[in-house]
Order: sequence, then C-alpha cells, then structure tokens
Amino acid sequence: MTVTFYGVRGSTPAPGAEFARYGGHTACVAVAFADRVLVLDAGTGIRPLGRALLGSDDDLFVLLTHLHADHVIGFPFFAPLYEAGRTVHLIDYEAAAWSPIALFDGIHYPLRPGDLPCSVQRTREQPMAFLQSHGMAVMRQAVNHPGGAYGYRVEHEGQRFVFMPDNELGDESLAARSDIVAFCQGVDVLCHDAQYLDDEIEKRRGWGHSSVSEAIELAVEAGVRHLVLMHHDPDRTDDALDLVQTRAQAALDPHGIACTVAYEGLTFHLGEAESLPPDPGSVATKAQSL
Ligand SMILES: [Zn+2]
Repeated sequence: MTVTFYGVRGSTPAPGAEFARYGGHTACVAVAFADRVLVLDAGTGIRPLGRALLGSDDDLFVLLTHLHADHVIGFPFFAPLYEAGRTVHLIDYEAAAWSPIALFDGIHYPLRPGDLPCSVQRTREQPMAFLQSHGMAVMRQAVNHPGGAYGYRVEHEGQRFVFMPDNELGDESLAARSDIVAFCQGVDVLCHDAQYLDDEIEKRRGWGHSSVSEAIELAVEAGVRHLVLMHHDPDRTDDALDLVQTRAQAALDPHGIACTVAYEGLTFHLGEAESLPPDPGSVATKAQSL
C-alpha cells in the first residue's frame, strides 16, 4: 500500500509563505491499494488529492476520524464528486448523525446532492465490516478528543499503518492509554497528533491534542518503526517544524525509531522497498503545483 499525505495541518488551513514547505492544508491522507483508494479524512487536503485522482478508475472510500471542521470542510471540493459515472463511497462517522454530505444544502455550499453527476454511496452501519468486504483490513480505536474520535489501523500484506491525527495522550476520559498503546503496538508507521510543543501543552489541556514529547513517548512505548508527527498547529512555521524534526529524531535515535514531521507529499511505499522523500523542501515544487 502507498500512504500519501495531502493535508497535515490541524484546526484550520495555514496559507502563506512561512508555511509553504510543510503545507497548509488540513487533514487528508490517501492509502492506495492496487485498484482502490482509502481516503482518511476530508480536510482541505482532499482537494489536491481529488485532482490527482481525476480520470482514474480506482474505487474511492472516504473514512472520517470525526466531524470537526478541519476534517470535513474539504469534502465538497473533492473533484471525483463532479465526474459522471464515478462512485464515491462515503463512510459516515457512525457515532453522530451529521454527514459532510449535509454541506450540500444550498446554504453552506451552492449545490445540492442531486446536482452531483457522480454516485455517492453512503454507509453508516458496521463500517469496518463494509471496508473488509471491499478487501481493506481496517480496525478502529476510540481516542481522547472532545466529542469523540477514532484512530484507524490499516493492514496490508504484513504492513501496518496507524492514523491517529487527533488524540490527547494526557487524557483517558474516552480511551485507556493501555488500549491506545496496544492499538499502535509494533506498527510500521504511526501517524500521531503532535499539535503542541512542550511549553504550550499545559495551557491546552482538554483541547484534544498532544505534544511532540507525548507522541514520542507513545512511539517508544508501542515500539513502532516510524513515527510521523501530524496535525501541526496553524501558527507553526516551517522553521519551527524544522526544529521539531531535528529534536524529535534526536530523541528517537536511541530507540532505533525513525521520525518524520509530516508534510504535503510525504509518501510511504509500504510493502515494497520503503522510501521517503528526503525532506519537505524536496516536495515544495510539487506541492505548489498541486
Ligand atoms: Zn483536527
């Protein structure tokens, strides 16, 4: 499977020159298999992903961690929705009645669902079984985030990827830490919330996010191979993220764990010879062209 990051920012998009290398789009990650793509979250990063998918005949499945705006606001701008003959499977967030299809109400967005030339197939009940029936092995874990959220674990040909972009590791009100650790145990790539720096987290307790150090502690405790830090604060500049990258890797080196601060265009080819672009600057040209 190939995992590609299209949106790595938390809370709200962060446009501007000082955010250009890591990127300003909110949460969206594509997990591509031979003939289907699992889209994890529909933040504004789903817009460049949608453009990349135009003209393909992959089956598309959109799966949401939760319904906060930074994870759904890109949905109306997903280009395959405007392709005649295309089927987009929208797996609604099971724990709440609202769906991002409701943005197509003529008020929040000018179109209505009936205006779309594609077929939107919605699934709410037993979403993991639904994905399994389409050949995707996905598990979920409740995490600690206001209003609730899930983390997802995708397994394919012995490779394991966990997507947990919003989770407060200092909180156990919705999920026990031991369950979170067990869910992440030994995975090849753990993508985890690291919105705050260590000197910011105390003022943000209860906001549903973790610090860089807390994400590092989880990676060590769970024995993952590669930690990806995501959901960057919208005020975190490229220069500040460069510093996070250096310090986080230094902290994980003694444990033999690789670390990457997520950026738009970051790609993991899991199950093949795992490869990484060397740094966010190398994909800046690509990101700007998206
Ligand atoms: Zn978020």
